[in-house]
Amino acid sequence: MVTTHNLGFPRIGVKRELKFALESYWQRKISLEELQQTAQLLRKQHWQDQKQFDLIPVGDFSFYDHVLDTSFLFGNIPERIQQQEGTRLDHYFQVARGRSGSEKSCDCYIAAGEMTKWFDTNYHYIVPEFTKNTQFNLNSKTLLAHLTEAKKQGAKTKVVLVGPVTYLWLGKAQDDSQKLNLLPSLLKQYQALLQELAEQGESWVQLDEPILVTELTETWKQALISSYESLKQAPIYILLATYFGKLKENIELLPELGVQGFHVDAIHARDEIQKIIPYLKDKQILSLGVVNGRNIWKTDLNTTLDWLEPIYATLKKRLWLAPSCSLLHVPVDLEHESKMDPEILSWLAFALQKLEEINILAKALKEGREAVQEVLSENRACLEKRKQSKKVHNEQIKKACHFIHDQLGKRQSVYSERIKQQQSILNLPLFPTTTIGSFPQTKNIRQIRSKLKKGEITQSQYIEEIKDIIAYCVEQQESFGLDVLVHGEPERNDMVEYFGELLQGYVFSQQGWVQSYGSRCVKPPIIYGDISRPEPMTVEWITYAQSLTKQPMKGMLTGPVTILNWSFVRDDQPRSETCYQLALAMRQEVLDLEQAGIRIIQIDEAALREGLPLRRSEWQEYLDWAIQSFRITANGVQDKTQIHTHMCYSEFNDIIDAIAQMDADVITIETSRSHMELLKAFEAFEYPNSIGPGVYDIHSPNIPTVNSIVDLVQQAANYIPIQRLWINPDCGLKTRHWSEVVPSLKNMVQAAQILRKKYESY
Ligand code: GLN
Ligand code: ZN
Repeated sequence: MVTTHNLGFPRIGVKRELKFALESYWQRKISLEELQQTAQLLRKQHWQDQKQFDLIPVGDFSFYDHVLDTSFLFGNIPERIQQQEGTRLDHYFQVARGRSGSEKSCDCYIAAGEMTKWFDTNYHYIVPEFTKNTQFNLNSKTLLAHLTEAKKQGAKTKVVLVGPVTYLWLGKAQDDSQKLNLLPSLLKQYQALLQELAEQGESWVQLDEPILVTELTETWKQALISSYESLKQAPIYILLATYFGKLKENIELLPELGVQGFHVDAIHARDEIQKIIPYLKDKQILSLGVVNGRNIWKTDLNTTLDWLEPIYATLKKRLWLAPSCSLLHVPVDLEHESKMDPEILSWLAFALQKLEEINILAKALKEGREAVQEVLSENRACLEKRKQSKKVHNEQIKKACHFIHDQLGKRQSVYSERIKQQQSILNLPLFPTTTIGSFPQTKNIRQIRSKLKKGEITQSQYIEEIKDIIAYCVEQQESFGLDVLVHGEPERNDMVEYFGELLQGYVFSQQGWVQSYGSRCVKPPIIYGDISRPEPMTVEWITYAQSLTKQPMKGMLTGPVTILNWSFVRDDQPRSETCYQLALAMRQEVLDLEQAGIRIIQIDEAALREGLPLRRSEWQEYLDWAIQSFRITANGVQDKTQIHTHMCYSEFNDIIDAIAQMDADVITIETSRSHMELLKAFEAFEYPNSIGPGVYDIHSPNIPTVNSIVDLVQQAANYIPIQRLWINPDCGLKTRHWSEVVPSLKNMVQAAQILRKKYESY
């Protein structure tokens, strides 16, 4: 007997049904009942899809984010929201999305909760807020309702929750001790919840403590020990789940945690399993994540069995099988991929295929490999083909990568020299204003794209239509009075997919959606082979846009590290190798833009930070190749060409050194949601080049006022010399409406004018 279970299922739906329902509900196009109905159908479908498993997850479904759900489950609702009228669900969406108002002082304005990455994934959670007044108050109604729903389907259930210590760790407070002071009262609520689950007849609950794969201070370790010391007394078995990495020194905590079962990510921590087993007590369960929940490659079933069989022989029914982590991070089903190259398709597995792989492995363990002989040989043959495939390997590219040298990543002169040359051409005022690249992706744009896909318009008609939109964007920006313009990215559905489609070595899914945050999904392209750039990818659009205006037009590219981090990456060579290939391909594009007369080129590295390993001790190695990749892409230009880069999210105090080494002339960054907190980094570290701290939170529909922008820039001026300050939004505007963008950018320009007057004499 081998128990199979799942840690979590993608909640958005194969066709993004949840996304569309949520957005319609927010726009008041459907009722709450209709939204609930869609959600219920999705849950039902997902449990149905997992019915062969011995335990199916409950509590993994969410209207926005499971960390926000946890906050609501335990009644940790920010004070500013508690004061609002409305239902619990209204409050929930208010924390998630904020609410617009023209003035921050206006009664109707509500600040959204901060959002940040879930460990090293591209999933974003809403950061729990803790103060010394935080009180917890269990409200398990929704969770228990889901449990009842699941049970109606006749399946054996296991509720999955973020564990108490990880929950605190993920949150925002004055300091760690403020968080940990809350632990006892939080634990009481967890205990009450576990009690309730037991009363519902539940035998297992899964508590996720992925912080166990990070470097923990003694205090956090103690918090884990004391928490589980008390939780394990509950009348329910606890499966404590870790994932995304190795436990390393935290293995020693396992005996002290004393729960009834552990889940370990056997993809990322395979070589630790033999070390972990001796730490287990007699009856403890070891759940192994044997199928990668983070990528889309088929599992090598034979090799997995090679190492898994001896473990099974030792542990017998104490061995459970699962994916390495929640399947939240992969698309749902390959069945819908009718257009992909069948050979490449045969190398892949999405969530449902991964569940099937687990079933096969479980069967092979229980009944012997003979019982699944056919599947195993098929799997072997298929992986062998992938290894040998000409589609994967290109000797010329491998050679080019081999010849990468330091010089390739160096600018001709230092910043102080370059900026003089750039400024003599660009002639920008103090506090230059710009945007991050994209303008609203309207229905019209999506229609044009879909018409092209369906063959309803020709390629040249498509180009004309897109050019019209570019012209509109340029016209608008000129009318606002922005200094450095962008073409608006209407030809891009997604900043990585766009380039992936034009690069060799990539394939695309039709329905490979993965939730990024709330209703936002991305369809990460798949890197299956060596990367090259057959022809220019952006030059036509950018030069057209430049032809419409005298203002400088920014060329707009996505950097190699971001392309890598937002793709599903091949697993048959180191990530660094793939990144260098991308860097060389993007470098050619940069040089072509320069050649075409573009004076400013922005290379977005929105995802550089999220590629950081979870453990600090591994950061430097990543940063070395990531920064070098960016430099290879960016720094082949002449001094007079200005390189910009953009990064989303605010915590980069700890990598500011590396960011400086990228040596971009201008960097634009997220700051408005965290009220310029980021700039503290510049107190200790003098960033040598120009910076545009975002002054407009584009994640929320709120329109920033002139005063709020002036105020933010003045705060920034405390840290950065005004000669090196730019004014721009936090990120691209593609998710916003024109009706929000127009007043916001007008306010931004007006703020710049006020500031120029004020600081002119400096
Ligand atoms: N240039 C991109 C845009 O404006 C950057 C997006 C991002 O950083 N995520 O949409
Ligand atoms: Zn951004």
